[in-house]
Amino acid sequence: MKGLARTGRGAPGWVEKEKPVAGPRDAIIRAIAIAPCNSDVHLIWGEMGNFLPGDRIMGHEALGVVDSVGNEVRDFKVGDRVVVPAITPDWSTVPSQQGIHQHCNGPLTGMPFDMLKDGTFAEYFHVNDADANLAHLPDGVTVEQALMVVDMMTTGFYGAEMADVKLGDTVAVFGIGPVGQMAVAGAHLLGAARILAVGSRPNLVELAREYGATDIVDYRKGDTVRQIMDLTDGQGVDAVVVAGGNASTIGEGLTVLKNGHTLANLNVMEEATLPIPLGPMAFGLGGKTIRGDLCPGGRARMEKLLALVKAGRIDPGKLINYRYTTFEDLLSALMVMHDKPKDLIKSAVILE
Ligand code: NDP
Ligand code: ZN
Repeated sequence: MKGLARTGRGAPGWVEKEKPVAGPRDAIIRAIAIAPCNSDVHLIWGEMGNFLPGDRIMGHEALGVVDSVGNEVRDFKVGDRVVVPAITPDWSTVPSQQGIHQHCNGPLTGMPFDMLKDGTFAEYFHVNDADANLAHLPDGVTVEQALMVVDMMTTGFYGAEMADVKLGDTVAVFGIGPVGQMAVAGAHLLGAARILAVGSRPNLVELAREYGATDIVDYRKGDTVRQIMDLTDGQGVDAVVVAGGNASTIGEGLTVLKNGHTLANLNVMEEATLPIPLGPMAFGLGGKTIRGDLCPGGRARMEKLLALVKAGRIDPGKLINYRYTTFEDLLSALMVMHDKPKDLIKSAVILE
């Protein structure tokens, strides 16, 4: 079978490999839809992917049809159309039992795709612990919608959850790429009164408004902190989600965050240190919390998010604005995420 690998830093390339084989509790999935993530871009072009072997097939966002299952798999059979979370942990470990499934066997190991084994940029791919990690594609949910659930929606929503958004809150979301868009939508569904979305590109600003943003802050047109403080009469915000920018964006977020509240970081950060301004942290005593995590995965999480889509509470399919239709197009879909044309929100290959 064919797959798209990281053959070296900044070098995506096609590889031929044997089709993977399912262990007793695993499934092999034939891909019907695949999307590249900005985290794949970080891993392929950034230094952080240097630990990967030179034939590692990348990718962690996909939907597929079950091609084979191990003899202990109960709930999935050959031919089922399934939603595959980006995060497919080993649910048997102690960290998983403690609710830390994203780091079930050490840092980031809840995402074996990319990190520990071949990912979803392949004609066929392997899913561990199929009963716990796959979800059935529900009737009434499109392939495009479900594809945007597996990583973008679970991540963005988790940003709003980690930031502890409450009814009536004023929330700032830094970055309105696909992850930030979903953070806006998550904050909206959790009952935020105002959502200040920080971004600049017109089609993303328009979509953020559709997902629930009440105010737009253009970080290219003046100081972001000043703009947010002006919009909130100098009060700041009750919750911050960071889904764009860089390490200094965390400092901006902490500056506009009220004392006692939480900032949630979703960005993959390659900087060595985090500059934290202590003045706005009430000289280190402001009770502000910084959280940052990999998105939650697994079957139960997918089923809850898919239920929201099926009920018409959110349409994450609107994120995809660069569509491709053949497996060979996967390289173009990845390159577009790397090259970032001005109107790009999210690219995807929809095969069936
Ligand atoms: P994009 O690159 O598509 O979007 C980034 C956004 O940040 C854009 O809206 C951009 O604005 C904005 N931005 C850039 N600079 C600033 C700044 N200085 N201040 C405020 N906003 C700024 O990224 P994605 O949405 O795809 O992903 C966001 C991050 O989440 C990435 O680092 C990705 O790797 C990570 N990620 C994390 C996951 C997790 O589990 N935690 C899962 C998936 C992704 P503009 O409109 O000008 O372009
Ligand atoms: Zn991702």
